[in-house]
Amino acid sequence: MMKIRVIVAGASGRMGQEVVKMLVKEENMELVGAISRSQAGKDAGEVVGIGYLGIPFVSSTLEALSKTKANVLVDFTTPEVVKENMELAMQTGVRPVVGTSGLSQKDVASLAKTSKKTGTGAIIAPNFAIGAVLMMVFAQKAAKYLPHVEIIESHHDRKLDAPSGTSLKTAEMINENRAEMRQGHPEEKELIDGARGAYFNGFRIHSVRLPGLVAHQEVLFGGNGQLLTVRHDSFNRESFMPGVKLAVEKVMNLDRLVYGLENILDL
Ligand code: NAP
Repeated sequence: MMKIRVIVAGASGRMGQEVVKMLVKEENMELVGAISRSQAGKDAGEVVGIGYLGIPFVSSTLEALSKTKANVLVDFTTPEVVKENMELAMQTGVRPVVGTSGLSQKDVASLAKTSKKTGTGAIIAPNFAIGAVLMMVFAQKAAKYLPHVEIIESHHDRKLDAPSGTSLKTAEMINENRAEMRQGHPEEKELIDGARGAYFNGFRIHSVRLPGLVAHQEVLFGGNGQLLTVRHDSFNRESFMPGVKLAVEKVMNLDRLVYGLENILDL
């Protein structure tokens, strides 16, 4: 069996470390490179706490791509570098699997063009937790019958972007199924800026940031005399790994960019 050769960008970060541990356990995958500027030169296995692996961290994506014959680049970095990492990978025929949030719709469209031009498959998933993807799909279905909706997403206080990539993706999916209207009182006034949350095409997204949280989201649907709540909680970062594993496998058979894990699941 040919193993899928994988580089991890952001490998010393919270998500990247989980991906390194997952790749080492999977029989059909092999960690061949790990990128971290702060840990450059140190052994990836020792830094993530699973013992020596013989894979030293390198500080640049170009270096990792040129030193390894990788098939896939898994990226959990920051909004500033993820686009360039994806472009570099696709230009060298390496398939990106990306969890980093903060890519705009314009970025995704431009990356889809590169994917098509180079014939290199790619997957971007705002949320790799399969339960969270189901939460988004259920919310999309509910919006058709209960169009009054608000999203409350809650994350740890080290998160850089708000609202979360998952809440934006949920909002886009709801939007496809929801009759267009502006919710709430037409004359409502915010006494403190931001009190009603971020406005998305007629409804609101609220972002909570607190230590102790991981990744949580509730989608509330109100109707006369009823409330439907669709909720998902990721209690730890392992919850994302079955989705990352699936994406690494599926991207090997893609020649285009897929946005959203729901598009590679059999739903
Ligand atoms: P994190 O712990 O801060 O890790 C990010 C890593 O990226 C850092 O370890 C850092 O390593 C590297 N990095 C930062 N700036 C960089 C730069 N300019 N160039 C190259 N590397 C850089 O963050 P995290 O919690 O793992 O989250 C990473 C991303 O994944 C975030 O965007 C988060 O929202 C997203 N996320 C997605 C999912 C999902 O299911 N899709 C789930 C959780 C999180 P060095 O400084 O050592 O280079």
